Amino acid sequence: MLFDAKSMDRVVVLAGGTGSVKLARALYRLKMDKNSNYDSKIHDIHLSIVCNVGDNIWMHGLYICPDLDTIMYGLGGVLDRRRGWGLIDDTFNCLAQLARLGGEHWFMLGDKDIATHIIRSMMLREGKRLCEVTDHLCSRLGIDARVIPASDDHVETRIITDSGDMHLQEFWVKHKGMPDVKSIVYRGIDDARVCDDAINAIEEADKIIIAPGNPVSSILPILSLRGLRDAMMRVRERCTAVSPIIGKDPVSGPAAKYMRALGYDISPVSVAEMYRGVISKLVIHNTDLEYMDAIRAKGIDVYATDIIMDDEHDEARLASYLLRL
Ligand code: GDP
Repeated sequence: MLFDAKSMDRVVVLAGGTGSVKLARALYRLKMDKNSNYDSKIHDIHLSIVCNVGDNIWMHGLYICPDLDTIMYGLGGVLDRRRGWGLIDDTFNCLAQLARLGGEHWFMLGDKDIATHIIRSMMLREGKRLCEVTDHLCSRLGIDARVIPASDDHVETRIITDSGDMHLQEFWVKHKGMPDVKSIVYRGIDDARVCDDAINAIEEADKIIIAPGNPVSSILPILSLRGLRDAMMRVRERCTAVSPIIGKDPVSGPAAKYMRALGYDISPVSVAEMYRGVISKLVIHNTDLEYMDAIRAKGIDVYATDIIMDDEHDEARLASYLLRL
């Protein structure tokens, strides 16, 4: 069937991994399920996910892109929902053997998951861009949406701690997020080029949604890319963010530690401050009404609803709320 662009709502999501995928896959399900019970008017969506690359890492000679993989697996319906990362029903025999042979084994890599990294690394070594490789993997997984790495270049989120300067994955996985965080830098960001497809998708979008991702390790590495922030500022009126913070805590993960290191209090108001200039709307939790005036004072419209996604039903409810906003 011919693609009729005019009958489509073009939706772009800026995403990290485990929090973002809940919303990304719900939007994808609404797109795919033409008979959705949630809202019969919402179904003709052209969906693009612009994904963080700051947590990418070379390991065992393989290029691993945790956020890209989480989003691809989530959209492809093969993500392990309980863990929030990796493939469903995967096994860890290769990792166990690596440990036996004295190799690094702190980063969990499932046996089936390793196939993704082998194909990706092989294609990159052949000279393909990360963007092309991701298109290839998405097509093999049968995904009917674009997943676009924010950059083809290697950008690395480094956590500066009291025990030294380390890759984000080393901090969170190897050291279990324990060291004190002094600051965070996005190494390579100034020289990294934004993927043209990401800019095009953003400029052509009817709606841009910043997923409830870690603001410091997932969303700011995207927004700090030269060119991307400018594009986002141009489309600000069409951009809505969902807060990953409820009250004085993140829903999960190390966002509080990172935000404090950058000098922010932990609240939805700080999320508004971090995204100021690129969003016109912020969606916060329905118990956080006390923050609404402070957010409005930053020139951002604020909406309150249930933003906790514990299951598929919650995810669908929030996705459909955002599409109607
Ligand atoms: P990461 O790359 O694995 O860290 O994943 P993301 O950056 O995509 O998501 C992590 C962030 O999502 C954390 O800051 C959480 O507070 C937030 N988060 C996780 N689950 C939810 C949820 O159900 N609702 C909301 N609003 N935020 C969530």
